[in-house]
Amino acid sequence: MDLTSLRPNETAGLVCAHHHLYSALARGMPAPPRSPRSFREILELVWWRLDQALDLEMLEWSAKLGALEAIESGTTAIIDHHESPNAIEGSLDVIADACAEIGVRVICSYGVTDRHGPEGAAKGLEENSRFLASGGYGMVGVHATFTCENDTLVAATELANRYGVGVHIHVAEGADDVDAVSRLRDLSEDNWLLVHGVHLPDNHELRGTIIHNPRSNMNNSVGYAAPQRLGLPVALGTDGIGAAMFDEFRVAYVRMREHDISATPEVAWGWLQGGYQLVPEALQDRVTWSDEPIDPWRLAFHTNIRPRSVEISGEIVLDEGLATRVDAQEVRAKASEQAKRLFARLEAMP
Ligand SMILES: [Zn+2]
Repeated sequence: MDLTSLRPNETAGLVCAHHHLYSALARGMPAPPRSPRSFREILELVWWRLDQALDLEMLEWSAKLGALEAIESGTTAIIDHHESPNAIEGSLDVIADACAEIGVRVICSYGVTDRHGPEGAAKGLEENSRFLASGGYGMVGVHATFTCENDTLVAATELANRYGVGVHIHVAEGADDVDAVSRLRDLSEDNWLLVHGVHLPDNHELRGTIIHNPRSNMNNSVGYAAPQRLGLPVALGTDGIGAAMFDEFRVAYVRMREHDISATPEVAWGWLQGGYQLVPEALQDRVTWSDEPIDPWRLAFHTNIRPRSVEISGEIVLDEGLATRVDAQEVRAKASEQAKRLFARLEAMP
């Protein structure tokens, strides 16, 4: 698409640079066995129970729901980070196929971890390798350094280098992960995605793009990343809380403003645009919005703008707010059935 041909109510497709499509069914999930009192406990009591409960059928509908909601928000490209420790093999194909059915672009990765022993780590590496070898559009995922042995970090790096792709990894999200700096310093490359970086020191010497997820950071009470201080390109993600990128931009702006009264929306807008360095194909997509003009200062305070239509690679995938390739109501109904199965499993877990 010729960018100069954009009308005042149009943008290119938006990019969600860090998502967890497996978490789309999590809304309304049963409360954890007790209230988490730290970031580590949020992981242990909420997310690491959820990912263990997933099977491939739940994942399929979770990914379809997440992809549907992405195009309904004007997001045409998702960089996904996945974990389902009891359903690893084939999981990245399930996500890629679900996104293809809806029509949204996706870059898949499986989050390798030693949380389930060396066998679990090997299976995660194998899933990344299998997907990339089959021609899948992906990266090599790593959960985070604090759940990985050094051998695993090195193996993931080597795998990524073999396929000429980057590593997609959570970095210093919580204070538990401050060792990430020393453990990744000799491994990271410019094509890595360093997700969060909240507890990175200014002089961290890591390479890659910082993926800022302000709403998730606030929800997990981990602190403010202030990503502009880190000296690297920045892009915006949601960390699995939907894929509404104008919304995430607004949160990014207002969180920055809380930190610095002189901050302007243009900075957070620049982070939103940072997604195009990672998925330039999204520049060929076109979103027509319900209001104009599309301007950072207007959008920062405008909470009621919606996509009218979305065109991805020349195909209309959303027309007058309705998905064209799938029956959105059916996707929601099937996702709801799978959520019930997932919640029953969670209830039954110790
Ligand atoms: Zn994440």
